[in-house]
Amino acid sequence: MMAQCSSMLQLYNVGLRRCAALSTHFPHTSPKTRAPFANSYSTDIKVRSYFQYLKHKMISPPSPPYHHVCQVGDPVLRSKAVAVDPAAIKGPEVQKVINTLVKVMRKFECVGISAPQIGVPLRILALEYPQKLLDESSPVSRKVRGLSVQPLRIFVNPQMRVLDWQTVLFQEACESLCGFSATVPRYLSVEVSGLNENGEDTTWQGSGWPARILQHEMDHLNGVLYIDHMDSKTFINIHWQAYNE
Ligand SMILES: [Zn+2]
Repeated sequence: MMAQCSSMLQLYNVGLRRCAALSTHFPHTSPKTRAPFANSYSTDIKVRSYFQYLKHKMISPPSPPYHHVCQVGDPVLRSKAVAVDPAAIKGPEVQKVINTLVKVMRKFECVGISAPQIGVPLRILALEYPQKLLDESSPVSRKVRGLSVQPLRIFVNPQMRVLDWQTVLFQEACESLCGFSATVPRYLSVEVSGLNENGEDTTWQGSGWPARILQHEMDHLNGVLYIDHMDSKTFINIHWQAYNE
């Protein structure tokens, strides 16, 4: 089965993150059937618009918080998210955002996600690195990338402080740029402070891969994507080989 495209920091070929299932995002196509330079772009738009029209006639479109991940081009991914009123964290609206964030993160097997990615421009992010993903990685990858199991952590209004300014380069991906990946420099160690899902003060220090995840998600809260930091010559379509087969 084609690897599933995941969200936030999934990695190509290293089992850290399975990238976006074409079957999920392009249900009627595959790398073999979908011409990379199809000249029918405008036709695709028309067909999609027609089905969208029919769909909208029958059911109203979803509203945020979405159960899908917004894709690059969506203005919500380029806006600076606003702080959450601490008094509202335990209220139903913010709790719904947090619960949806966790559901979507797990659905897409992400290791991190931010509220803007589900269409909510609030300063909320979630991190989680499950044992399953660690088990799927090689011992070398664990050591070199500094992988470690991380429990679910929610940060509301997080503020990040760099603890080790040394940067390391690794291939990184994002569920909001499904199907692509690039090498991105990230600081080795960071600390984050903010409020948790209960509105309580919380601080966490992470290094290695968890630190990378946090930096990636913090960027989302400021409308920044990994492509803004990447080495552009390393930018790849993770299915590029399949197009040649
Ligand atoms: Zn991302």
